[in-house]
Amino acid sequence: RAKSAGGNRFELADPEADARVITRHGLTTALPAALERGEFFIEYQPLVHLGDGSVHGAEALVRWLHPQHGVLGPDRFIPLAEHTGLIVPLGRWVLEQSVRQARAWRERYGETTAAGPLRINVNLSPCQLAHPGLVQDTVEILERTGVAPDALCLEVTESALIGADDDLLKPLRRLAEMGVDIALDDFGTGYSNLANLRRLPVSVLKLDRSFTQSMQQFPADPVDLKIVEGIVALAHSLDLAVTVEGVETGAQAEQLRILGCDTAQGWYYARPGPPERLHELALVDATA
Ligand code: C2E
Ligand code: MG
Ligand code: MG
Ligand code: MG
Repeated sequence: RAKSAGGNRFELADPEADARVITRHGLTTALPAALERGEFFIEYQPLVHLGDGSVHGAEALVRWLHPQHGVLGPDRFIPLAEHTGLIVPLGRWVLEQSVRQARAWRERYGETTAAGPLRINVNLSPCQLAHPGLVQDTVEILERTGVAPDALCLEVTESALIGADDDLLKPLRRLAEMGVDIALDDFGTGYSNLANLRRLPVSVLKLDRSFTQSMQQFPADPVDLKIVEGIVALAHSLDLAVTVEGVETGAQAEQLRILGCDTAQGWYYARPGPPERLHELALVDATA
């Protein structure tokens, strides 16, 4: 397609790119109505203790059941929601749904498991972090649902916190003081200064999936082994727990357990799914 003379339009050579742009635009404009119509839903992926395989909670992962395009993953629409600001009400909805789910699990299984408090992990985007209502919204949701703060872990990516000034860290500190856990998501990809970790109010490191993937080869890349070993040692010396994401095989789980990682998530244990899926897993046994 020819570029219109003098216009500031993109040149769209192939029809596929054209379709992507239309879809992107279409998705963006459809987001607010989708939230009102209840087209979003949450899948839960179990968090497993590497020592004994018990389940102590789950991570909430949002999806969009689009009336024309079917189920869309967060990578398709979260960036758009961040761009338009809809991430704030959408994130608040995810948080409330997730905390309600945690309450239901706690009512059924008790508040603690063999591996600590039964909890729900919820992802926060940088926009939510910068939004002044974050602490109050979170407090209100916990009070409204009657759920203790130790049921909640908020995940913030390492890249969102690199170079974060005190204003950005203040709400996280307040939440941590209340007893909400903060996890550093996708850790190891962001080139952050490790000494900087001390300054952050985090209690969990979530090691990025790329490390898990490199544990697939046998023997694993010796440099990666050293790096993971070093991260685990540093994390533990700072009293941080280490969670690994993207565990797809038993070999990976075993390698990461030997390296001292505490908890894991991944398809090897369970794919993200409806909340009832957790009932089939070891939750009951873990509390028994
Ligand atoms: P994340 O927080 O790092 O979540 C882990 C992603 O890895 C999820 O992708 C999960 O489905 C996927 N995963 C889990 N186990 C495995 C495995 O064994 N192998 C592989 N290959 N992948 C695995 P998903 O659900 O597509 O989410 C992608 C990202 O979207 C998340 O990455 C998170 O950053 C973001 N996200 C999801 N839900 C929310 C939300 O409610 N709010 C915000 N702000 N972001 C969200
Ligand atoms: Mg996450
Ligand atoms: Mg992650
Ligand atoms: Mg990730």
